[in-house]
Amino acid sequence: MLSTAVFPGSFDPITIGHHGIILRGLDLFETIIIAIGSNADKKSFFSLESRMQMISLLYDDQPRIQVEVFSGLTIDFCRSHGVRFLLRGLRTSADFEYERVVAHANRKLYPDIETVFLLAAPEHSYISSSLVKEILAYGGDASSFLPPGLKLDACLPGK
Ligand code: ADP
Repeated sequence: MLSTAVFPGSFDPITIGHHGIILRGLDLFETIIIAIGSNADKKSFFSLESRMQMISLLYDDQPRIQVEVFSGLTIDFCRSHGVRFLLRGLRTSADFEYERVVAHANRKLYPDIETVFLLAAPEHSYISSSLVKEILAYGGDASSFLPPGLKLDACLPGK
């Protein structure tokens, strides 16, 4: 088993698709650091604090999962934590094309980094945080797209 991987993303909010990648990642890596990116240019639906709280609570009983917030380059976060592996999920060829560019750039900037891609489960391959946000924004029930046990209600904007 490999040591530690960083699973970076916006997680706005975390979906059952992310959750699937995290659980499968635990078969490969001893520890997974879920790194929630704070992007000042990207307006988020859930605050950084809410995302941190929801995800930390979800994996409260899983000592092999850590949750952190970061800003700046993902590879700088990896470097500062001494982590050599990045975990990413692939849903579509569009995901692949985007990830391909980022993974090459990351290796150019930090040659020790290796990105490990897991193909999304077919039943999760159409699920995205954007889809969930759209449903929530109109007051719909998004629970079938969310990890079982996620405490989302208290974090909804305006609550
Ligand atoms: P980012 O803004 O970095 O793309 P996301 O939170 O949207 O952040 O995604 C983080 C990672 O999770 C990415 O590798 C993305 O491809 C993957 N991912 C997102 N949704 C799914 C899904 N439904 N199934 C599998 N992987 C997913």
